[in-house]
Amino acid sequence: MEKLRIAVQKSGRLIESSMKLLKECGIDVPAGNNQLKISVDNFDAEILFLRDDDIPEYVQDGVADIGFVGENVVLEKNKITNIIERLGYGKCRLSIALPKGKRLNNLQELNGVKIATSYPVILSNWLSENNIKADIHEISGSVEIAPRIGLADAICDLVSSGSTLFSNELYECETILKSEAVLISGKNLSQRKQELLDQLLFRIRSVKKAKHTKYVLLNAPNDSIAQICKYLPGINSPTIVPLAQEGWSSIHSVIGENDFWNVIEKLKAAGAQGILILPIEKIIE
Ligand code: ATP
Ligand code: MG
Repeated sequence: MEKLRIAVQKSGRLIESSMKLLKECGIDVPAGNNQLKISVDNFDAEILFLRDDDIPEYVQDGVADIGFVGENVVLEKNKITNIIERLGYGKCRLSIALPKGKRLNNLQELNGVKIATSYPVILSNWLSENNIKADIHEISGSVEIAPRIGLADAICDLVSSGSTLFSNELYECETILKSEAVLISGKNLSQRKQELLDQLLFRIRSVKKAKHTKYVLLNAPNDSIAQICKYLPGINSPTIVPLAQEGWSSIHSVIGENDFWNVIEKLKAAGAQGILILPIEKIIE
């Protein structure tokens, strides 16, 4: 029986969210053993635990069929893979940072500057797009100390909160890439593997959609139902159930997280009471 080989980072910033997403998709990965390859019991898949830097190449070469990895790594490694879904976690940016005392008035002042980075490919593309001739110094880790030990004038590294830059007396002066975790796949999957991938993608999309949507339950006088329904269209239309109390109904619907605070005021003004907002686990359409 063919199995879909799924590559995830062995340890690091992406592993927890990747395993959580697989679990929410109903894929049970037995925990606790230190194996590099684990078979899943309830889905035709195997999980390969790898260094994140190796994932694009393994997916290109068919050692793994799909992989969960940072978009920054995919672009840096420049292998032949498809990005098939953005996953919404592992958000960060690749930025150029300078020591605090050095001001940058315009990008052209980066000409001739020596920049330490673990992302030479992305940086050199960005420099040539912006017509800047800087000197790239590739190092594989601890990039943020390079200016302090005289290795470089500036750095280009991943930032999320900015606290590492701050504690190394650097400031972020230019973002060259915004990144998040993505799902990549190889080019030539067998028919069976493509079917398994389609099933997994369907589940991932259902989970993602549910994360941004809430279930709304409220009570309303019957004469304001029409008004309230205008604010709550639901997936098809809201469910309306009469309450024991004469002249009142309970309305059930769904609402996008981003619209929520706007709509809630309108619902209250229209006479809604006892409003409950509940998380949704999955949305199957
Ligand atoms: P590995 O041992 O697998 O090579 P790593 O040390 O290269 O791990 P991590 O630091 O675990 O990698 O980061 C993995 C990914 O997490 C990054 O490639 C990036 O996509 C994402 N990420 C999110 N926020 C940050 C951040 N502040 N710093 C670094 N990476 C971040
Ligand atoms: Mg790495």
